[in-house]
Amino acid sequence: MNIKDLSPGELEKFVADKGLEPFRARQIGKWLYRKGARSFEEMTDLSKGTRELLKSAFSAGDAMELAEEQISTDGTRKFLFKLLDGKQIESVLIPEKGRHTLCVSSQVGCALGCTFCLTGTIGKIRNLTPSEILDQYILVNRYTGGSVTNIVFMGMGEPLDNLGNLVRALKTMTDENFLGLSPKRITVSTSGIVPRIKELGEQVSVNLAVSLNAPRDELRDVIMPINKKYPIKELIKASVKFPVPPRKALMFEYVLLSKVNDSDRDAYDLGHLLSGINCKVNLIPFNEAGPLPYRSPTRERVLSFQEILMSFGLNVRIRKSRGSDILGACGQLAAEYPARKIKGEKSAARVVV
Ligand code: SAH
Ligand code: SF4
Repeated sequence: MNIKDLSPGELEKFVADKGLEPFRARQIGKWLYRKGARSFEEMTDLSKGTRELLKSAFSAGDAMELAEEQISTDGTRKFLFKLLDGKQIESVLIPEKGRHTLCVSSQVGCALGCTFCLTGTIGKIRNLTPSEILDQYILVNRYTGGSVTNIVFMGMGEPLDNLGNLVRALKTMTDENFLGLSPKRITVSTSGIVPRIKELGEQVSVNLAVSLNAPRDELRDVIMPINKKYPIKELIKASVKFPVPPRKALMFEYVLLSKVNDSDRDAYDLGHLLSGINCKVNLIPFNEAGPLPYRSPTRERVLSFQEILMSFGLNVRIRKSRGSDILGACGQLAAEYPARKIKGEKSAARVVV
């Protein structure tokens, strides 16, 4: 087991169970997350006995290695990581003025099968461990000279289908003695596993993005099968109760699929559904990804859709597609699976590692 798989609380418990002083947990956390230690030998302010004890129980090394980096013509960087069992995942770094957002994966593949998402076509291979979630951030930061400012769980997988490990990683990220990131700079995106939204909110306060993508159940049932289990009304009810950080608003994401969910009627229905809720709406024009049977709407369609929503007093942004030439945009991540072949056809990107 990797020691980064333990949450701060679990590490404290381990330390207590072994009869060590409580502050040892913070000391180990500092070595791992502030000083970049990758072995227990480096932790020179621990006694030799303590180091031996840790070494017999855990590894402290990287949970993955960087296999490849691709850089988009727009500056977006996609990292392919090889996990210790040979499985592969991707993370995407999106540089913008004033912030560098890392989009991390929570699973290898995804079980939820949304019909517009390339990751969904793979099916779920397995959950990521907490150390595999954290190391996407740690390795990209190490490789890019500490540039990451924000983290979004919008890569491969459904974070709430891996809740235990997600929460462990989030606790390590936000604990001031560990990675010490502000919860305001972390966003978890979910397709809407309703009871888990409540469970997540009981354990952490971070930003929540809900992938709504349709304003009516009969349409959402088709493009997001999870809706048959947890319909829109229940999803919204749970989402508005989620404890986002102070002065932050709940976010709803809406992937616009041409002639599927982008009509004026859809916009009005969505406006009625969300009006009065303190939220931000993010419109994501569909990123075309290989075999998926959808098209991106025209710019005019996207703008009319936005205008209708704004007439309801909603705060609506259109998300710029980033990194689509390297299949690094939302919904295009599939690591070595079907996407590999598609990727070969595109040549705009630069492959570095
Ligand atoms: N499983 C989580 C997080 C990963 S998907 C979720 O579904 O929210 C992150 C975002 O990408 C979601 O909002 C999803 O709706 C969107 N997305 C998926 N496929 C897409 C595509 N082909 N084009 C644009 N956005 C897509
Ligand atoms: Fe999974 Fe999210 Fe893709 Fe749906 S959109 S298949 S939940 S990763």
